[in-house]
Amino acid sequence: MASKIKTIGVLTSGGDAPGMNAAIRAVVRGAISQGMNVKGIYQGYKGLLNGEIADLTARSVSDTISKGGTMLYTARSMEFRTPEGQQKAADILRENGIEGLVVIGGDGSFAGAGRLAKLGINTIGVPGTIDLDIACTEYTIGFDTAVNTAMEAIDKVRDTSTSHERCSIIEVMGRNAGYIALWCGIANGAEDVLLPESYDYDEQKLINNIIELRKRGKKHHIIINAEGIGHSSSMARRIEAATGVETRATILGHMQRGGSPTCRDRVFGSMMGAYAADLLAEGKSDRVVGYRDGTWVDYDITEALEMQKSIPDYMVRVAKALSI
Ligand code: ATP
Repeated sequence: MASKIKTIGVLTSGGDAPGMNAAIRAVVRGAISQGMNVKGIYQGYKGLLNGEIADLTARSVSDTISKGGTMLYTARSMEFRTPEGQQKAADILRENGIEGLVVIGGDGSFAGAGRLAKLGINTIGVPGTIDLDIACTEYTIGFDTAVNTAMEAIDKVRDTSTSHERCSIIEVMGRNAGYIALWCGIANGAEDVLLPESYDYDEQKLINNIIELRKRGKKHHIIINAEGIGHSSSMARRIEAATGVETRATILGHMQRGGSPTCRDRVFGSMMGAYAADLLAEGKSDRVVGYRDGTWVDYDITEALEMQKSIPDYMVRVAKALSI
């Protein structure tokens, strides 16, 4: 069936995530194979407002699937948050003949995509964020690479921590979502995991746990701390003073965003990007792509943004139970 629209655009927005390039490549090639033209919009909504738009061909996305980051770059834009900015963006898209747009990013980016849909641009959101914090989908592009990067780094800290019989506080990404922290807590066998969803700021509990586990013969004590919970270095100083156990803080930082995407992120990026191109070819708009119960699905953007996601209690209990 011939596509209902002729030209689409694609942009990446918000935090970058490994696998975004696989998604861009799939949007481009999926759209071209259905007879559509594709334009790349550089630097997210900010670049859109500056008219940073260029044609993409099937060859433009060669040799990108294995690369981290995003070949379209990403940015945040205050101007686009305003109704005037959104109208200007819709006008620029029309001036460039762009009838459909794929936005790869997180919830904030989808809110923006929803505004453009209301202004008559066919828009589709693709979940790209390392935080796994988008409620309508069981998977977000970038999580697997990021969590594996964090896990490998924590293994290394753990080796030296054990040798010196130290306590280590390791800060991972996830200011508002504890998925990376929780998965590493289980994968790295951490003694404590501090999650933004459930941390009660009771440092005495942590101190008591360190003292108790030392008595039981533990040679190290790994505390995985989701970004944004307190200040890891000052927490380390207080814990060392209270327990007498040498305590160091390690902040993994932006290394967690980079690197070649894992197989999972390449496959999810490819499937979700291709699915988005298919939706546009069918004339759909105002949808977010998701993955649920073993298959790719799509939701109305407003409904998707209203959905709630909570950290699985059972995983939290297992992480605790296995740390004894
Ligand atoms: P991440 O989860 O990686 O932070 P995100 O997509 O949620 O990704 P944001 O910084 O929240 O990242 O949003 C990216 C851009 O989307 C913002 O800079 C802004 O231009 C636009 N945006 C965010 N929220 C809204 C909104 N409510 N309405 C319109 N545009 C928005």
